[in-house]
Amino acid sequence: MSRLLFQGVPGDADESNQLRIGSAAPSLIPDPCSLIPASDKLHEECGVVAVYGHPHAARETYLGLYALQHRGQESAGIATADGHHLANIKGMGLVSEIFTDDVLAKLPGRMAIGHTRYSTTGDSALLNAQPIRVDSTKGLIAIAHNGNLVNLGNVRARLERDGAYFQTTSDSEIIVQLIAHSSAGSLVDAIADSLSQIEGAFSIVMMTRDRVFAARDPHGFRPLSMGRIKNPGGADTVVFASESCAFDLLRAEFVRDILPGELVMVSEDGVTSRQYASGIPQSSCVFEHVYFARPDSRIFGRWVQESRDQMGRQLARESGVAADVVVPVPDSGVTAALGYAEEAGIPFRFGLIRNHYVGRTFIEPEQRVRDFGVRLKLNPVHNLLAGKRVILIDDSIIRGTTSRKIVRMVRGAGATEVHLRISCPPTISPCFYGVDTPSKKELIAANQSIEGIRHYIEADSLAYLSLDGLLQCVRDENNVGYCTACYTGNYPTQWVDVEDILPATAAI
Ligand code: SF4
Repeated sequence: MSRLLFQGVPGDADESNQLRIGSAAPSLIPDPCSLIPASDKLHEECGVVAVYGHPHAARETYLGLYALQHRGQESAGIATADGHHLANIKGMGLVSEIFTDDVLAKLPGRMAIGHTRYSTTGDSALLNAQPIRVDSTKGLIAIAHNGNLVNLGNVRARLERDGAYFQTTSDSEIIVQLIAHSSAGSLVDAIADSLSQIEGAFSIVMMTRDRVFAARDPHGFRPLSMGRIKNPGGADTVVFASESCAFDLLRAEFVRDILPGELVMVSEDGVTSRQYASGIPQSSCVFEHVYFARPDSRIFGRWVQESRDQMGRQLARESGVAADVVVPVPDSGVTAALGYAEEAGIPFRFGLIRNHYVGRTFIEPEQRVRDFGVRLKLNPVHNLLAGKRVILIDDSIIRGTTSRKIVRMVRGAGATEVHLRISCPPTISPCFYGVDTPSKKELIAANQSIEGIRHYIEADSLAYLSLDGLLQCVRDENNVGYCTACYTGNYPTQWVDVEDILPATAAI
């Protein structure tokens, strides 16, 4: 049973957990240790969902979060409002572990916001799980946030000088504190005023007792879309989600992306929108198309599946090599591998099988077993690989340790040659916009030549997709601008406070 934090829930409310601007800090509840085997992938950021005008708003939000589970598996939360009260329940673990029928029954109301989290700043404690519910000078507010702010130090110090008392280490509380301390007359003006003072990546959903808000940062780093559920004989339900794949489970129609710098409000008067910031070049995260987002999502105006297919095709054009089979590193390498195989005219085969049931509580029985973590997740299909020249397709090399294990695994299954192809450029710089990246000294491509990496991972050849090639694969008539900072080191914001970003903790 997951450990839960209740806020404002009738009968179960632990009011000591109620955050109040200026009140004494509640004690942090320690994070249950995750024993999942270490991974050499970049970690997902967060997923957010909001629902306005549905009799089962909590359940709809649960379904939306379920579809967004790939964006964060550390904690999840749902807050609901019924026009009078604002209840919030969050816990550590997966959405389905936390939100049983009994728990969902404690969340009444026609409005809800939800969040699934992989921690990027702040510690992993339950109190930092989201939504964060705050009793502010502007009334009760619940907020859930995907992304990372990069001027935390300046804003936090200024707020503290103005008397703010921070009770979590989460970015999201900074936003609520700014709203509480804003001199703007109305709540919506205070939100717009606050969002214009922060820099970095944020796709936000927010809720008061009777309204739901959704906003994206002016650069549009993270995706956020709006949809509608048609209700025969009644008003439509308005929904928001980090990725459109969540709408499918809700049977909602995709309406549009929230624009960079846009603040949308849904109330009994309907949907209203304002641009709180404009004139800033868009820099949406290209790595969402490469790896994070689900292929069945449409983000930044295009289908992720289409982008990945194009990346595979472009990779085949740029760095083709004679081979017998194209094998994806599952799951994220699959779509690019299909594109590569079709373009190269080489058969596609599932030569590596992923175990989808590796749980969070796995305890490694013997530390000394070589490559055990990777072998637990992936297993080679010997009869597809033996005696074959294999092109392996993956979406990134971070430290190189996992890639080396996979190359060894394929060779150990009898492959005569192993050629690794990566569907994006070398990752040379950390991300400060909501993706948990190791420091530069741990990124193998920041420290070694491509030949050096090839030698380390023991592949017969290694090639990455070029930056120009990648951008060709994600550009269309919408002319979206993309952030490529982890491939170039050119950051689209001034990140003067990056020392405030906690160092990445992902283990090798
Ligand atoms: S640095 Fe990389 S991962 Fe981070 S927002 Fe930019 S493209 Fe995305």
